[in-house]
Amino acid sequence: MNTEEIMAMDKKYVMQTYGRQPLALKKGSGAVVWDMDGKSYIDCLAGIAVNNVGHAHPKVAEAICNQAKNLIHTSNLYYTEQQVELAKLLVGVSPHDLAFFCNSGAEAVEGSIKLARKHTGKGDIIAMENSFHGRTLAALSATGQKIYQKGFGPLNPGFTHVPYGNLEAVQKAITDETAAVLVEAIQGEGGVVMPPEGYLKGLKELCEEKGILLIFDEVQTGFGRTGEMFASQTFDVTPDISALAKGIAGGLPMGAILASKEVGSAFQPGDHAATFGGSPLACAAANASLNVILDEDLLTKSKENGSYFQSKLNFLKEDHGIVEDVRGSGLMLGMELDVECRDIVNNMREKGVLINCAAGKVLRFVPPLVIENEQIDTVSCILGDVLKNYSD
Ligand SMILES: *Cc1c(COP(=O)(O)O)cnc(C)c1O
Repeated sequence: MNTEEIMAMDKKYVMQTYGRQPLALKKGSGAVVWDMDGKSYIDCLAGIAVNNVGHAHPKVAEAICNQAKNLIHTSNLYYTEQQVELAKLLVGVSPHDLAFFCNSGAEAVEGSIKLARKHTGKGDIIAMENSFHGRTLAALSATGQKIYQKGFGPLNPGFTHVPYGNLEAVQKAITDETAAVLVEAIQGEGGVVMPPEGYLKGLKELCEEKGILLIFDEVQTGFGRTGEMFASQTFDVTPDISALAKGIAGGLPMGAILASKEVGSAFQPGDHAATFGGSPLACAAANASLNVILDEDLLTKSKENGSYFQSKLNFLKEDHGIVEDVRGSGLMLGMELDVECRDIVNNMREKGVLINCAAGKVLRFVPPLVIENEQIDTVSCILGDVLKNYSD
């Protein structure tokens, strides 16, 4: 099939929930993907912060192939070696003690909320304005952006939203019924919004003082994205619960909840479950992917190539008046413009670079952590060319 035929079939047979770009992808390797005509693109989106170890990593592909030939799924009525190995690995690289496996970010967020409620015996969750936590109903209710909620009410009760970055607002919102504060360390879909200095540490102190739980939604920030394995480590703040997904399993659908022993023990047999959660196939992929992050020292690459990338974007800011701000951590970067960035995303794609637009005016760069500096040079060069058309 060619791209036009694929687009026509999508229109006919697939619910039109996505504002897709006119591009069908066929193949990938590292930080490069190819379309149906064999044209290549440098991928600065990585399946939206999913393909952290790059496309078609041989170790991940091999792990998936080998596992698929033996056992794809078992149900959680039985044990598998792959699942306990992954739990041990995750506990080893995170500030947590126990893991639960599910299948997506929204599911990890919802499970985190259930765990916080079970542990505290309280119901209310304080979440942030401009946040994003997923599309299922409770995750949507936690999300602090009306644009995602419109038309899907009634939303779930029990969620209060306060401005991100404002400690005092959180303090004022806490009541006797508050179970937890839910926050993205860096707001991703909200436009790569960085936490103000001391904010996350302040949240932790506040939560400890009031005896409520701190949940980090690390669905986007996890697995090396911000320069450390988790943003909790980048900002040196230990939450009680972390929700994970996107980059966890080299591109296979998977989510996880991590928690301290004390909090995680609140879940008792029968309390929470997921049929597909932690399947041997997904766990084999996640084990391989995590080992690639460690063996290839992708955390250092994320930090070093991320700051190189950020400096390149800062040069562009000096030259182009429409660039308002450049920010981010590791290889989670945003360039805020004073115009809507959709056209720029399209121009970049035509010139061979995939990026996307977050919150309307922010170009988001979340490439595979294996992206090389020469590829970053190419991206910056192309972006400079494109931005020229928008600056006088
Ligand atoms: C993408 C995202 C989610 C939702 O993940 P899904 O796998 O799409 O359900 C939740 N939280 C954050 C911070 C995300 O970036």
